[in-house]
Amino acid sequence: MPDAPLLRIAGLVKHFPLGGGLLTAPRGWVQAVNDVSFAVHRGESFGLVGESGCGKTTVGRMVLGLIHPTRGRIEFDGQAIQDLSRREFGRLRRRMHIIFQDPYSSLDPRMTVERIVTEPLLADRRPPRAERRRAAAELLDKVGLRAADLDKYPHEFSGGQRQRIGIARALCARPRLIVADEPVSALDVSIQAQVINLIQDLQQEFGLSYIFISHDLSVVEHVCNRIAVMYLGGIVELAPAANFSRCPRHPYTAALLAAVPLPDPHRRAAAPAMEGDVPSPIDPPGGCPFHPRCRHAFERCSKEKPPLVPAVEGHSVACWLNDGRGLE
Ligand code: SF4
Repeated sequence: MPDAPLLRIAGLVKHFPLGGGLLTAPRGWVQAVNDVSFAVHRGESFGLVGESGCGKTTVGRMVLGLIHPTRGRIEFDGQAIQDLSRREFGRLRRRMHIIFQDPYSSLDPRMTVERIVTEPLLADRRPPRAERRRAAAELLDKVGLRAADLDKYPHEFSGGQRQRIGIARALCARPRLIVADEPVSALDVSIQAQVINLIQDLQQEFGLSYIFISHDLSVVEHVCNRIAVMYLGGIVELAPAANFSRCPRHPYTAALLAAVPLPDPHRRAAAPAMEGDVPSPIDPPGGCPFHPRCRHAFERCSKEKPPLVPAVEGHSVACWLNDGRGLE
């Protein structure tokens, strides 16, 4: 029997108020995340993919406790986060960490590398300086930097090196889960592959689970075991990574794949490009949220919202065309 998932999310919702204040009601609500459920297994890389504003980063931040959900349940290692006291959550939170998108703004320019990398240790206790320095040197070695870099400041490094420092910091408290939020999108293409390889190597070495957030389906396909595609705050397709290029079953996924320049002429020919812009999450369309942009839409699509249901084993889709055949 497989292990229980490391992370389980059920019915997660986040609506942000628009305007308003202490004495005035909000003018509306930004429906950033709507009823999202998934599980991340131990040692798994789980991808969250979608266009900007689809809610993927908000989901990642709710998992880390950086944003409070409007509704829903998050369980980490069998413990429901909502049921924990502040102190208990603080302890559990040390087993999760984040790698930020922007290696330029995510490192404090006034801190040395040693201080940045070992900061997570200070949340627990104040280890002696020599211990911190030794831990920092080991972490730098793991991410391909040198102990000689310990006393330098972030501005002395390139973007790729700064992201390595951010990764070393994420590893410092020996986390079980890392939320990697667009970890390579701010880097030069030539550096991206090196950082992705490092992230994958560290997963093996430390037995990590990842939530890998990206707008780039080709990166996520390469890194992840399973992928959830998000559109307007909800998951529209969830499947093993290998199924996406072979057999996308949601028109939005097919359109995302069409935007990826791949050397597979069949895939590009079969996948339609997307039309129009993403509708506002303040006033999302009724029925299927993708229907105003979908070339397959028919009458039912504008009236009823399709649930996310299994098409074949391990592959779920939220589309009324879901008959298990994939898109032609
Ligand atoms: Fe397109 Fe209808 Fe499927 Fe939505 S439910 S993706 S509109 S075919």
